[in-house]
Formats: sequence, structure tokens, C-alpha cells
Amino acid sequence: MNPIASMDDTIVALATPQGVGAIAVIRLSGKEAIAICNKVFRGKDLTKQESHTIHFGTIRDGEKIIDEVLVSLFIAPKSFTKEDVVEISTHGSPYIIKQVIQLFLREGARLARAGEFTKRAFMNGQFDLAQAEAVADLIHSDSEAAHSAAMNQMRGGFSAEIAALRDQLIYFASMVELELDFSEEDVEFADRTELQNLVNRLQTVIKKLIDSFDLGNVIKNGVPTVIAGKPNAGKSTLLNALLNEEKAIVSDVAGTTRDFIEDEIHLEGLSFRFIDTAGLRDTDDKVEAIGVERTREKMKQASVIIYLFDLVNESLEDINAEVKNLEAQSIPFIKVGNKIDEADAEKIASLKAQDGWLFISAGKKENLEELKDQLVSKVNLQEIKSGNTVVTNARHYESLIRTSEALDNVTTAIAAQISGDLMAMDIREALHYLGEISGTVTTDDLLETIFSKFCIGK
Ligand code: GDP
Repeated sequence: MNPIASMDDTIVALATPQGVGAIAVIRLSGKEAIAICNKVFRGKDLTKQESHTIHFGTIRDGEKIIDEVLVSLFIAPKSFTKEDVVEISTHGSPYIIKQVIQLFLREGARLARAGEFTKRAFMNGQFDLAQAEAVADLIHSDSEAAHSAAMNQMRGGFSAEIAALRDQLIYFASMVELELDFSEEDVEFADRTELQNLVNRLQTVIKKLIDSFDLGNVIKNGVPTVIAGKPNAGKSTLLNALLNEEKAIVSDVAGTTRDFIEDEIHLEGLSFRFIDTAGLRDTDDKVEAIGVERTREKMKQASVIIYLFDLVNESLEDINAEVKNLEAQSIPFIKVGNKIDEADAEKIASLKAQDGWLFISAGKKENLEELKDQLVSKVNLQEIKSGNTVVTNARHYESLIRTSEALDNVTTAIAAQISGDLMAMDIREALHYLGEISGTVTTDDLLETIFSKFCIGK
């Protein structure tokens, strides 16, 4: 088989999830999409219909009716892929889906590869690479923050910023390169002070984008959160309390069959992912003392740490010593006293006199709302709400770092009054890495890696 999937083929795939559903949508894209569908469709002649119309009819294998369907037509270039696209809504039976797809294959379509519809949309100029990647993020977004970051990226917010940076740099690259043509005459078309100013402006924007990745990562993958504390402090009780509430919320939403993601809760549009909770949830294991080293390792991975203190079984001295010890390691944590339902009032009062304490009862589910507020306050939501571009994609992050490094080299070159030809190389390199983000510069390998992460049908 030809390893390079031809853009001339007409491709077909199921666009809705596998399994039984009320309806399923099968999508065809390519030059023959309408003709292929027309061969097995009984109803109006699809080749004579207008774009953006829907037609009722039957799909037949010879005289055998496979299903009654609705066919939607999108004629090139007014479609997602900018090719002719036909979407066939069938009844959602796996048998029907299989039969219909097989009919299309028989009539000349081939099965789409992972991400191939989106890849075609990109190749045909529907959007740039960053936007194509945002389609995948949007499909997988499961929190409000992830959704709005992906939506912003898909609608071109990030791409516009990158394109503007590139345009300015291209202008200077051409000026510097013009000098090379006149190298004998020792002229400077590209004013070095202006170029340095531009590089500085670019660096400010790029560094801001680079810095936003910390937040972007959290938006996309959830805030890694750890519940730490001595054995029997109530860690598993707290985890279960938080997760059970989440479960209740998820199943309360009538009619949804959303998968419940274990060990994750949603607050203020962000997801908090509890890491390494296996030990905690295994209740038989609860007396096992977690080694200090292991706890520390765990805490290092976390963005947010809830540290539980047992107000019933630990003495005031022990608690104070433990806090001191933790603070000495300069790991930020939320100081939480647990078991207020049974704890000595004086002990609580004494701790309350210190800053930053939060008191809960995991067992009785008291003050959990306050704890959740504290969790949210640890993440800078302002950035998300401000609509600023947040880099959520590790590939973009890498490219931005490389761009910034290349720009540093330009700065060094300007300072050292290095010749234009060497400087032109650094500018070209910066342009190359910026271009990788939008896909102005691509390789087959890069495209393959990106689009193979999509599902078939996307
Ligand atoms: P872990 O070892 O830190 O995971 O602690 P567990 O969650 O297993 O709890 C240890 C013991 O403390 C259990 O007997 C819990 O029932 C009890 N416990 C947990 N939270 C509370 C609470 O808020 N109040 C009281 N009175 N007991 C609690």
C-alpha cells in the first residue's frame, strides 16, 4: 500500500462514536463523494442538488434497503475539508454503519486515516496548523477552561499573534538579505537599532506565551493535586468525600452518560487531578506508613498540595513541628486541620491564631466548600478569563523556546556587529520555528505525528 495517503482519493469514515446510538453520521470527502453516495442512494439525484441541502432517501445494496437516511451535501469549497463532502445520517446500528461504509468502499471510496479530514482541511487552507490542533483539543476538552482555550486557538487568536510576529521578522530578514546583494558597497538597509527594537518586542510577546504554558498545561491536563499527611490523618476519607460529590454532580445531570473520570474533580471550570491516589483508596492499606521520601516525591509533582493534620491524634507540638519541617522544604501547601468534629476546641483556637489554617471534617463533610475555594485560588484564573492567548500545546511551546533562542542569537549578532549573512541565518532560524507553529513550515513527519493523534473520522 502506498504509505503516503493521496489527497485525490475520496475518503469515508464514521464521524460519530462507535457503538449503538440513535443516529450515526458517516462522512465522505473528496472529488467523488457525491457521485459515490449517489450510486447507492435512492431519492433525488444528488449530483444535481445545491450545496448545504439535506435529502431524505434510502441507501440500497442492489434492491435491498439497508436504511432510510438523511444526506447532507456540502459542495467544494464550502465544506470543512474544502472538498465535496457528504454526510449521511443513518440509524445508529453498528450493522447498518458497517454495511453503508462497505458499500461506499465498493463504489470507490477508501477508509480515512486518523485525522485525515482535518489534515485535508489544513492542506486546503481552511486553517493553519495551530488551529487544526485546536480541533483535537476542542474534541477532547472536558472542562470550561480547556474548552475556551481550544476555542480561542481554533478561532485563530494564537495564529494571528504568531502571523503578525512573523510578518515583521520577514520584513527585516529581507532587508538584511538585500544588504548581502550589495555586500561590496557596505550599505545597511536594515537599521540595526530598529532591528534590535523589533527583536525586543518579539521577545516580550514570545516570553509571555512561553510563560503561559504552565497555565496552559494545567488547563489541558488538569491541576495535579496531592493530598498528603501522616497515616490516619484522613486522606482517603477526604479524597472519597470530594470524589463522591463529583460523582453525584456528574450523575445528577439528567440524561448524560458522560464518562466519570476517576480521581478528578471540576471546580470553576478547571479540573483538579488527584495524583497517586491508588494507595489512598485502598482502605485495607491504611495503616501503612507512607515513606517520607515517597511523600516528598509526590508533593514535587503537584501544583497544589492539601496537607492534612490529624487534630484528634496529633499533639499541638507535633503539628507545629510538622508545619515547620514542611515550610523549611519550601513546598507550598494548603494547611488543613482535619477531624474538627471531635477535636479539642482549645487546640483549634490555638492553631487559628496562626495564619493560613483551614479546618475541616472530612468524615462529616464539613467546610469542604472552603477547601475547594482554596484549591481554585491556587490557580491564576484571571489569565484564562482575560481571554489572553494561553499556549496549551507542548509542540508550540518547544517551537517558541527555539524561536526565542534564535532571537537571542540575533541580539548577540547585532551587539557584536556580526556580518549580515550570519545574522540572516539566525533570523531565518527564528522564522523557521515560528513557521512550525502555524504550519507555514512543515514536514511530512510532523504532519503525520500531529494528525495520527486524532481519531479516525476526525
Ligand atoms: P489516611 O490514612 O490518611 O488515608 O486516613 P483515613 O482516611 O483512612 O482515616 C483514618 C481514620 O480517621 C478513619 O478511621 C476515619 O474514619 C477517620 N476520619 C477521617 N476523617 C475524619 C473526620 O473528619 N472526623 C473524624 N472524627 N474521623 C475521621
